[in-house]
Amino acid sequence: MKSSLSNKLKERSEGNCELCATNAATCAFAVSPKSNDVIENEVALCDTCVALVESGEPNDHWQCLAGSIWNTEPSVQALSYRLLYAQKDKEWANEILTSVELDETVVTWAESAFAVAAQHLDSNGTPLENGDTIVLTQQLNVKGASFMAPKGTIVRKIRLVPDNAEQIEGKINGDTIVILTKFVKKSV
Ligand SMILES: [Zn+2]
Repeated sequence: MKSSLSNKLKERSEGNCELCATNAATCAFAVSPKSNDVIENEVALCDTCVALVESGEPNDHWQCLAGSIWNTEPSVQALSYRLLYAQKDKEWANEILTSVELDETVVTWAESAFAVAAQHLDSNGTPLENGDTIVLTQQLNVKGASFMAPKGTIVRKIRLVPDNAEQIEGKINGDTIVILTKFVKKSV
C-alpha cells in the first residue's frame, strides 16, 4: 500500500527511489501482506515505479531491479524479487533472479503474492464450486437445529466458505448450515 514518505525512509533511501535509483522518491510503498507501520516493511518509490508496481503489468523498466535486488533492506529485496518473479519467463528477469541468493524469509515474503488460495475439495478430492449439488456421505447432526440430516441427503446450490477450504454452506430443511467438505460428495 502507498503511503507518504517519512523522514526516516527519506534518510534510508537518500531521497532516491529504492528500485530504479534514478528518480526522486515520492512515496513509501509497503510490501504486502505487511503494512506501513514500520519502515522495515516499506520501499521508497518514485512516481514511475509506484505506477508500474500498482499496474501489476510486466514491464521492461524492471531491468533496473538488477541493481535493487542487491539492496541490503529485506523489503527492497522482496519487492524486487516479486516483480521479477512475475515475469520470470523473460530471460533478463530470470537471469537476475538466479544471480542472487536471498534469505529464505525474503523469498517467502516475495512469493506470498503468488500463493494460490486453498481449494475446496469433497471427500474424494474432487474440487467443489459455488452452486454445486452435493450428497452427504454421513449423517449430519445439525447444531442448533431440531433435525438430523441423514446420509444421502442432497444439498443443492452450495456456497463455498471463502476463508475456510474445509467448509461449505448449504440449505437443509430450509436452514442454511455449515457442512464440512470431508462429509460430502459432489453430485454430477
Ligand atoms: Zn523508481
